[in-house]
Amino acid sequence: MTHASTPPNFIKNIITEDLKSGKVGKVITRFPPEPNGYLHIGHAKAIWINFTIADEFGGRTNLRFDDTNPLKEDVEYVNSIKEDVKWLGFEWEELHFASDYFEEMYKRALLLIRKGKAYVDDQSADEIRETRGTLTEPGQNSPYRDRSAEENEDLFKRMRAGEFKDGEKVLRAKIDMASPNINLRDPIIYRIAHATHHNTGDAWCIYPMYTFAHPLEDAIEGVTHSLCTIEFEDQRPFYDWVIAETEMESTPHQYEFGRLNLAQTVTSKRKLKMLVDQGIVDGWDDPRMPTISGLRRRGYTPEAIKNFVFEAGISKAQGIVDLKMLEHFIREDLKMKAPRTMAVLDPLKVVITNYPEGQVEMLEAENNSENEEMGTRQIPFSREIYIEREDFMENPPSKYFRLFPGNEVRLKHAYFIKCNEVIKDAEGNVTEIHCTYDPETKSGTGFTGRKVKGTIHWVEASQAVPAEFRLYEPLIADEEADEETLEEKTFLDQINPNSLRVVQGFVEPGLKEAKPEDKFQFFRHGYFNVDMKHSKPGAPVFNLIVSMKSSFQLPKNS
Ligand code: ATP
Ligand code: MG
Repeated sequence: MTHASTPPNFIKNIITEDLKSGKVGKVITRFPPEPNGYLHIGHAKAIWINFTIADEFGGRTNLRFDDTNPLKEDVEYVNSIKEDVKWLGFEWEELHFASDYFEEMYKRALLLIRKGKAYVDDQSADEIRETRGTLTEPGQNSPYRDRSAEENEDLFKRMRAGEFKDGEKVLRAKIDMASPNINLRDPIIYRIAHATHHNTGDAWCIYPMYTFAHPLEDAIEGVTHSLCTIEFEDQRPFYDWVIAETEMESTPHQYEFGRLNLAQTVTSKRKLKMLVDQGIVDGWDDPRMPTISGLRRRGYTPEAIKNFVFEAGISKAQGIVDLKMLEHFIREDLKMKAPRTMAVLDPLKVVITNYPEGQVEMLEAENNSENEEMGTRQIPFSREIYIEREDFMENPPSKYFRLFPGNEVRLKHAYFIKCNEVIKDAEGNVTEIHCTYDPETKSGTGFTGRKVKGTIHWVEASQAVPAEFRLYEPLIADEEADEETLEEKTFLDQINPNSLRVVQGFVEPGLKEAKPEDKFQFFRHGYFNVDMKHSKPGAPVFNLIVSMKSSFQLPKNS
């Protein structure tokens, strides 16, 4: 089950008031990613909030690419973002590119110039930064601040015409260099960049700054509630200034919610891109990545992700969320859906010496012991099977209930077997073990003659399908670490060396043709997803989504 609505929250209260007072007719929100990377779990929260809240009030949501920086943006990212939003199950009303509004933005900048509210500054970026002042000291006016409107208009037009080099001039809003809010100290609103843009090509060599462009984009689209993360709170006065001074007809308002940071990983696109560029992971969709496409390839479902962000909540508080909570929701989602089958990840051959040579019998196995509706399947059993190497010990400690010489265990869905002989190679490594089985103990026949303490899983040898298993651990081992504490300069040193381990084993014959994204519970191992990139019919590759065990409990009040 996924939630069709958001829990009570401050944004909903505001919208309810706005609708009641008539300030807003129809609620319009937008999800505005910059196409400079793939979407991550934090974005899933922003997507979910924007789409779900608008929907709850009968409104709509646009997908808008905030593509005002040509240097970092790419169509690869545009395409992946669209794919991810759709995969999460959201449908945008309109699809927009901020770059489609460049002409409109330029006109609004000219309007500011004519009103004496913007000026062309010849100072370098460093000089502008150095004269901005601090939290306790006001900034200094630029020597170019008092240029006439005519001169500014002429210069700005020549900036557009390509007469100047990158960094030679900028356009700044003329507000107040002494404002207690540093963002109001004549912020830069246009810069020169002779760069090819993924959408507008070489049509422009000046580009609006994000903080100037964003309110205009919202206003152009008639967005009513512009929802963003908390770090933009200090930008809100400038957002309102832009809307008012550019004389936009529509007046959107900005509201901020807390970022979602997942423990044991980084989420900023810059850092994620470092992992990709340095080959530490196998692309943006590596199953260890907290990207939407990585989570998908790992085996997370849209339902699990949405239930997770619902639980993480909307509050303004910035929370670092335990990875265990995300894992909880995928277990919950797959528990009743995923077929439960057997896979041996570290095979040890067992010969059942009293089982007739050449005979193969089919045994009935339930597909999901908690969900009868999933029915049963037939699995082969014969004289040779594989078990997990760790399910046998020659000299076991006490309380070891699995296989050891002289001990009897239950084979899941099959018979009791007893270990009689251990075969070793010249170096003393165990190469196979010999057992006998008791035909009386067949599973499903109601045998009650005696009990055994251990049940182990297995796969019949002659029909076993060789498979690759990719076992994952968090990218960062430290459970307390997250985006906030992991620094760009050093986080690569903290990468968990065990974040990926690849092993070769066997699965049941029924999984030979498993399709990409099919999900299974492998008895005692956990949940696995068929890899979308590398799995092939006949040679399946399985990604560990999450192990079986969890000590995680949802907070009582949820
Ligand atoms: P990053 O810092 O990861 O590169 P960003 O904020 O630059 O992300 P944008 O593409 O600008 O990424 O983000 C699109 C929207 O998603 C914005 O409204 C932003 O506030 C929101 N968003 C980004 N990261 C998170 C997060 N961790 N939690 C919640 N919302 C987020
Ligand atoms: Mg950004």
